[in-house]
Amino acid sequence: MIIKLKNSTTESQKQQLVNWAENQGVSVCTVIGNVDTLLGFIGDTSHIDIEQLEAMEIVDAVKRIQAPYKKANRSFHPEDTVITVGDVQIGSGKPVIIAGPCSVESEEQICNIAKEVKKAGAQILRGGAFKPRTSPYAFQGLRKDGITLLLEAKKETGLPIVTEIMDISQLSLFDDIDMIQVGARNMQNFELLKELGKINKPILLKRGLSSTLEELLMSAEYIMSGGNEQVILCERGIRTFERATRNTLDLSAVPVLKSLSHLPVIVDPSHATGKANLVAPMSRAAIAAGADGLIIEVHNNPEMALCDGQQSLTPAAFAELKQSLDKVAAALC
Ligand code: PEP
Ligand code: MN
Repeated sequence: MIIKLKNSTTESQKQQLVNWAENQGVSVCTVIGNVDTLLGFIGDTSHIDIEQLEAMEIVDAVKRIQAPYKKANRSFHPEDTVITVGDVQIGSGKPVIIAGPCSVESEEQICNIAKEVKKAGAQILRGGAFKPRTSPYAFQGLRKDGITLLLEAKKETGLPIVTEIMDISQLSLFDDIDMIQVGARNMQNFELLKELGKINKPILLKRGLSSTLEELLMSAEYIMSGGNEQVILCERGIRTFERATRNTLDLSAVPVLKSLSHLPVIVDPSHATGKANLVAPMSRAAIAAGADGLIIEVHNNPEMALCDGQQSLTPAAFAELKQSLDKVAAALC
């Protein structure tokens, strides 16, 4: 971090700032030029509040050189992190496919879809029990009963489960869930992130609808700084001016996140595009771009789905897609 001091700064004011920085655990080097005086803060500056520095009387400008996240930062952890969900490893180089309905609707529905996606090669089952809906009149999910049905599907198929938490008060229901999803709308629910930092379970963290990649990584940092380092990042499309798709899939997020962070990165082509016919091409593109996996919505009767039917694949379409994904993955080896 580089700090440019105002020309009016006295020696004692400068020394006070140096002491302040050293008390925060960074070392300081001073560069005195003909006109300007610069201070370089060296070491871990992730906990230094840039706005606090900018507010100081003697500070003219501040430039952060190091990313404000540490635990999620590849510079401090060069090797890829591999996260185990049930008996599945995410981030090991082999793409992991998560599939299932947007929401759990009935025992028959979730168990049927679970069997179908397993047969087609999915390794983890998704299904929403608590649903974040734009309208309070839309189906809100089966909630506690949805979790029970997901566990039933897990018992029948052996597939590990990922499902979304919307509020920390729901956490006790997630004891037997293998991975907890934080949805796009909760990416910056910092109190929720802090609580999830205290548990020992993988967290699937979806990018907010209009969040930058740095904000996504800072949200991962919230979870990791609490002690839970099992975070998987998910690009699920962002809101842009384009109306042809539900969101705009930012595929460049995959290589960018993988260069900035050691955490696994997966892609959700279903919410990103909002259209079933776009899911297969964007899934293939995501794997080609280096994603560690995909989360895909599959429904046995998309037309009658209680949520997101328009973007859900049938089990047959999913099986066909899975075969082509295997070819893309093989071509990359
Ligand atoms: C979901 O996965 O069902 C979901 C609601 O996703 P997102 O938070 O990305 O909208
Ligand atoms: Mn959905």
